[in-house]
Amino acid sequence: MRDIKSLGFVRGLAATAVVVLLGTQAFAQSTFVKTVGQVQLRPGVMNPFALPAGTQYASDHVVVGFYANTHYATMQYAANQVGLTIRQANRYDRFVIMDITPEAESMGMTVEKAVARLLENPAIRFAEFDTKITPDFIPDDTLFGQQWGMHNTGQSGGTADADIDAPEAWDVIMTHPEVVVGVCDDGFDYNHEDLMNVMWSNPGEIPNNNIDDDANGFIDDTNGWDFSDGDKDIQPAPGDIHGTHVAGTVGAEMNNGKGVAGVGPNIRLMGLRMYGGAGGFMSSLTAAIDYGWENGATVLSVSYNIDGFTQAMADAVGRAKAADVVYCNSAGNNGQQNPPRQALRQMHDNVVFVASSTRNDTVSGFSNWGTLIEVAAPGSDILSTFPNNNYASISGTSMATPHMAGVIGVIRSLNPGKTARESLDIILDVTDKPAGIVGKVPGGRVNLANAIAGQVIGTSNVNNVVPVIGSNTGGNFYSFHVSGDSNSYDILSVLVPDRGFYAAYDMTFVAGTTTDVETMQLSLEGTTDGLPTAVYIYFFNYVTNAWEYQTSTNLGGPNTEFSFKTRKGATDFISSPGMGVKVRVFTIQSVRRRGGVPAPYTLKTDMAKLELLGG
Ligand code: CA
Ligand code: CA
Ligand code: CA
Repeated sequence: MRDIKSLGFVRGLAATAVVVLLGTQAFAQSTFVKTVGQVQLRPGVMNPFALPAGTQYASDHVVVGFYANTHYATMQYAANQVGLTIRQANRYDRFVIMDITPEAESMGMTVEKAVARLLENPAIRFAEFDTKITPDFIPDDTLFGQQWGMHNTGQSGGTADADIDAPEAWDVIMTHPEVVVGVCDDGFDYNHEDLMNVMWSNPGEIPNNNIDDDANGFIDDTNGWDFSDGDKDIQPAPGDIHGTHVAGTVGAEMNNGKGVAGVGPNIRLMGLRMYGGAGGFMSSLTAAIDYGWENGATVLSVSYNIDGFTQAMADAVGRAKAADVVYCNSAGNNGQQNPPRQALRQMHDNVVFVASSTRNDTVSGFSNWGTLIEVAAPGSDILSTFPNNNYASISGTSMATPHMAGVIGVIRSLNPGKTARESLDIILDVTDKPAGIVGKVPGGRVNLANAIAGQVIGTSNVNNVVPVIGSNTGGNFYSFHVSGDSNSYDILSVLVPDRGFYAAYDMTFVAGTTTDVETMQLSLEGTTDGLPTAVYIYFFNYVTNAWEYQTSTNLGGPNTEFSFKTRKGATDFISSPGMGVKVRVFTIQSVRRRGGVPAPYTLKTDMAKLELLGG
């Protein structure tokens, strides 16, 4: 039996919740540690008292998970025993929120005492604090900058091509099948001129008839849901700018003559407001995650500090994994190595954490990094949508995360047969790896065009050239030439539907006496027909028996020669005695060549030189 009136009263209390600040230091001196120390923690369940120092949480309610098939009456009894009441919810089998009654509070009941007492109940799998979450962004007063993260031309002192190569990718794919990205954040201005046509629309829900038409447990949830306030209104409250900004980076309408462009040309944005209003607690994010995977999102973009993540939240990410949905979260803005949140990546491989990069391809000073922070994306001075048809630049790993989430959305839409993890690996295998990034984030900076080209490479047949044996030019220094200027090696391109024309070939450099290669440099000189062409270099890895992406560059202008070098440290794996070093050169021109008509081209290579330095 649920007393709705009393629940309403308790909810009113929640809106004025006092948040307490309590670190692990404080716990060490508290009497509650003694109490919880006598409680048997369930196997595989997080210790609710082992929160990172400084974690804030609600002081008026706790989050409780029961074992499967527990009756509601049992839950109610467990709550009442400790002086708590159960808040109304859609799914009691996942977790319940228990509020401290005013009576119990006056008798001295606290959330710490409640958690310790509840953990003694054998029907309860976990009982924990509802940790407070905060946005991972840094306000920045450099308004109205440019979208260097999508396309960096060196504007505002940046480094050309220190970006995710979005125009190059759009040129190749033009568009992609519709895909839904759930954005868990504060409010969303779905009336914004650059968002109004790209919001997700719940196909089974008739707006504003006060009926849950699709029976998903939410009445009139047309664009998403507000898990902070528990209603359908996802619009920003005054001061909410974060969600609208993040949403614009993922999928602001492209090519509409207005404002900015999101990463994906055909992404639908599901608005999952879980911060602001009365919320901003982990339990709101948890409910938003569940709504996202249950209602068709394939990627969830979360730009919030989840260092104090809870068992309830980890469970929800696990359910998202079971539904094959990617959970993409900001690495955080503490300039910290190995933030506590990265433990979530160890628990679930559908998780990816995103560090922030600058317009000069360095890791942003504020950005966290660590062994399980797999990738960086542009996050400093990012221009995107602000409420009321405004646009502004702000910074944070919050801004990096939607770049990655947008790329994941595009790649998932193009690869419906790939799992969440396989889709992530497609992207992570072909990141750019500038020196300013890989020192802290070895996984490099995400590149949308590479991720798309990488798939073509994976499915194409590549022309082969006869292995060429070069000469030892002294000491451990080797130099090999495929041909001279007068004798170029020509490859005619072929068309891959929906991707463009590609031309590619493999070269084998027999390394002679070299069996212990430490570094190598590859130089190529050649030309195409002068239209924009992307070049990708792969080395063959004899350990994994697979081609391994190294670097990419762009060709442009008529009959331009190209020459670039790549260097690889500790390269034993790419050299095998008697088999030499194998290099793959892959070029691609888009279907929608800029200002031109799709046509085949010839890749001419005048010279290829490999310099090996042995140990
Ligand atoms: Ca670029
Ligand atoms: Ca509904
Ligand atoms: Ca309805």
